[in-house]
Amino acid sequence: MNKYSGIEALINKAETTHELTKDELVALLKDRQYEAELFAAADRVRQKYVGDEVHLRGLIEFSNKCKQNCLYCGLRRDNPKVSRYRLDEDTIIDFATKAKAYGYRTVVLQSGEDEWFDVDKMVSIIKKIKELGLAITVSVGEKPREVYQAYRDAGADRYLLRIETTDKELYEKLDPGMNWDNRVRCLQDLKELGFELGTGCLVGIPGQTVESLADDILFFKTMDADMIGVGPFIPNPDTPLAGEAGGTFELSTKVMALTRLLLPDINIPATTAMESLNPQGRVLALQRGANVVMPNVTEGEYRQKYMLYPGKICINDTPAHCRSCITGKITGIGRRVSETHGFRAKRA
Ligand code: SAH
Ligand code: SF4
Repeated sequence: MNKYSGIEALINKAETTHELTKDELVALLKDRQYEAELFAAADRVRQKYVGDEVHLRGLIEFSNKCKQNCLYCGLRRDNPKVSRYRLDEDTIIDFATKAKAYGYRTVVLQSGEDEWFDVDKMVSIIKKIKELGLAITVSVGEKPREVYQAYRDAGADRYLLRIETTDKELYEKLDPGMNWDNRVRCLQDLKELGFELGTGCLVGIPGQTVESLADDILFFKTMDADMIGVGPFIPNPDTPLAGEAGGTFELSTKVMALTRLLLPDINIPATTAMESLNPQGRVLALQRGANVVMPNVTEGEYRQKYMLYPGKICINDTPAHCRSCITGKITGIGRRVSETHGFRAKRA
């Protein structure tokens, strides 16, 4: 084959200019021949812009109650098979305190859309965690701007809200009762309020096209997101999408690698869902553009109960085990665990 194919030229363009058109992204997403070259280019850009440090974020899954009904998600309100829980404030603070002791510099507070955690409760939790000297990422779904403002005033640093897909029609089909424009409004509010903005997409949801994935990547660039989490959709047997095919590890990491090429200095997690599909998933993702891992610091039975999708990794492990396991994986590929809070250092 011609060594200097059009695809290789596109990879070179992405690596040197960090710009691609939609058609070029589509061509790269469809190509199967030069995947290794694409991943290598993403790895070089990662190394050049964000270095060899890997930032760890300790994930606290503090409630699996959710008022929403996203068709893909095991926590959707119409799933009666989930045993629902809420952690109380003391338990959340206890998990955050232990996360700090394990050496995490950030905790991620994630839950379903659970209104019981009203602004006052969240503000109190955020303030107490802040007193520990940790950075805080919040990921609790769509809220009015005033609520985001209150979280920010209390000290929250980052917010994660995936757009899931930029195909508005598909989004509204898969997220009944939700409105795509409102999700974008949330992202804009979060950005304006000074949060580090995290968004991302699901790869392989039914009805999604390669063109739509290219739009997702361009959307991340337009939003100038600070963090992008890309994960394969993994069908959950207790949801309406039970029989669907789901996303693949390869395509998810391609979307992630292209995201790294176009947004070279952002933080990109090697997602848990990737490792759920491939036992080496997080290490491979770290070698295809990722520079963040979010190990679980939730303890005990709650890990099993926060079942977004089946096959979720580490559900029987302890936070201590996860911490040493991930450190071993990171150092095993010649990288090192960061000791900073890991904010985006804008260079692009
Ligand atoms: N309720 C909040 C945060 C918890 S859900 C929110 O929706 O933003 C966190 C993420 O889990 C979602 O953004 C979605 O992308 C992912 N998720 C849900 N169901 C999934 C599935 N079946 N496979 C893979 N990821 C899934
Ligand atoms: Fe709720 Fe988030 Fe799951 Fe949607 S994706 S059902 S908002 S937990």
